[in-house]
Amino acid sequence: MTAAVDTKATGDELLGSFAGEFIQPGDVTYDEHRRVWNGAIDRSPALIARCRGVADVIAAIRFARCTALPVAVRGGGHSYPGHSVCDAGIVIDLGLMTGVRVDPQGRTARVQAGVLWGELDRATQAFGLATTGGFVGHTGVAGLTLGGGIGWLHRKHGLTIDQLLSADVVTAEGELVKASETENPELFWGLRGGGGNFGIVTEFEFRLHPIRPAVLAGPIYWPMAEAPALLRFYREWIAEAPDELMTIVMQRRAPAVDFLPAELHGQLIVAVTCCYAGAIEDGEEVLRPLKRFGSPLLDLCRPKPYVDHQSMFDAAYAHGWHYYFRACDVAQLTDNVIDVMVEHGNRIVSPVTTVGLWQMGGAVARVDDSATAFNGRHAGFTFNINGNSKTAEGFEAERQWARAYWYALAPHHTSVYVNFLMDEGEQRIRQAYGYAKYERLKALKRAYDPTNFFRLNQNIPPD
Ligand SMILES: Cc1cc2nc3c(=O)[nH]c(=O)nc-3n(C[C@H](O)[C@H](O)[C@H](O)COP(=O)(O)OP(=O)(O)OC[C@H]3O[C@@H](n4cnc5c(N)ncnc54)[C@H](O)[C@@H]3O)c2cc1C
Repeated sequence: MTAAVDTKATGDELLGSFAGEFIQPGDVTYDEHRRVWNGAIDRSPALIARCRGVADVIAAIRFARCTALPVAVRGGGHSYPGHSVCDAGIVIDLGLMTGVRVDPQGRTARVQAGVLWGELDRATQAFGLATTGGFVGHTGVAGLTLGGGIGWLHRKHGLTIDQLLSADVVTAEGELVKASETENPELFWGLRGGGGNFGIVTEFEFRLHPIRPAVLAGPIYWPMAEAPALLRFYREWIAEAPDELMTIVMQRRAPAVDFLPAELHGQLIVAVTCCYAGAIEDGEEVLRPLKRFGSPLLDLCRPKPYVDHQSMFDAAYAHGWHYYFRACDVAQLTDNVIDVMVEHGNRIVSPVTTVGLWQMGGAVARVDDSATAFNGRHAGFTFNINGNSKTAEGFEAERQWARAYWYALAPHHTSVYVNFLMDEGEQRIRQAYGYAKYERLKALKRAYDPTNFFRLNQNIPPD
């Protein structure tokens, strides 16, 4: 049962100035707005404060402090463990803050905290520009950026945080501060990987890069039976790959989507999905050996608008399904790692379960490791193993499958990408940052949020 918040008694300050929407249990839109992307999360907040701007965020924080209720902050609502919703607390929802202002000459964009990647890509591509962003268009810019941000452009241009020029932040005290290399630089360091621990970012300023109207991009599919040979070929082939090329190896059952022929649906497949962010002719040259390897079932890697590639997998990660994740970084694609991939890839049952092996390196690894709180710059690959089901039925079996795959990789784990964690406890968060960065983040937390007001996140407690 969720207790309604007595806004009359405690919220005069908020009621006086709040221009957004309050939603409480019993309101017609309550269920719509308490839902998050992961359908396995079912929580009932006492109040959802949908902010329209910075003043609303300040008011919501001050109000929340009066109530002492737990506070969740929602950008795009895609946190795997559902950190952007809570039971019997307050959700500060930024979903109405959807402004994007592109400066085509200066190649920058100012982006409000409720913007989704598909919206930002459309706004920047109107000027032939883009920044490193997530590979699914309905993911939030805010949460993805604050954890680091990997995507099709990271090998060429660096992580999303490497494009961040400044951020407007409302602190736990309800004060608006700016963070950049020159203003509050330590806060700026922490925001670039340290998640939502230090305040609510209301606006991000990103550097943009020219991206041609068409990129050579898309998946090439092989039967899973070819995975042992394909993965050995792949590791040699990408060793020499230019930064323009970014790939994700995917294992799954071929989904029942329009772009795949019906006879493939349900087959166990391994795919190498590519994006070549350079001249199409150069990309064709680079990709030729891969395209000719073995007997591909289907080759959908072709010239296409960047925004089309960015939305290609939106339907494959639909809202409301049940998702469970295990993740780790590995240094290399050794024979042992490949053996694990083959063994566990062949055990995939659910039609919506997927494994993504993200290629790292390139520009990500050339940024000084100490420049940001993000800690995975020297990972060779990042695994994202997700055991998914469309409903609760069969979900437990998928979770067990994902855990078994991840445990089998344990001897090869190096670090883990913080945005790919579930609720896995403090040790895993420490692992994500490493000792020195974790201690530095703790000190920053003591400075900006000594009472741990922002704690529904991959939490770095102040003490
Ligand atoms: C379908 C899907 C695809 C993904 N693809 C990628 C990918 O390509 N690359 C990648 O790097 N990651 C990817 N991720 C992981 C993604 O980075 C995280 O799930 C991220 O947290 C999502 O951000 P959000 O704003 O949608 O989430 P939310 O659930 O709204 O927020 C996530 C966390 O950030 C905090 N937060 C949100 N907004 C703010 C804010 N304005 N200020 C302070 N704290 C805030 C929240 O409190 C919460 O702790 C993907 C996730 C999904 C579900």
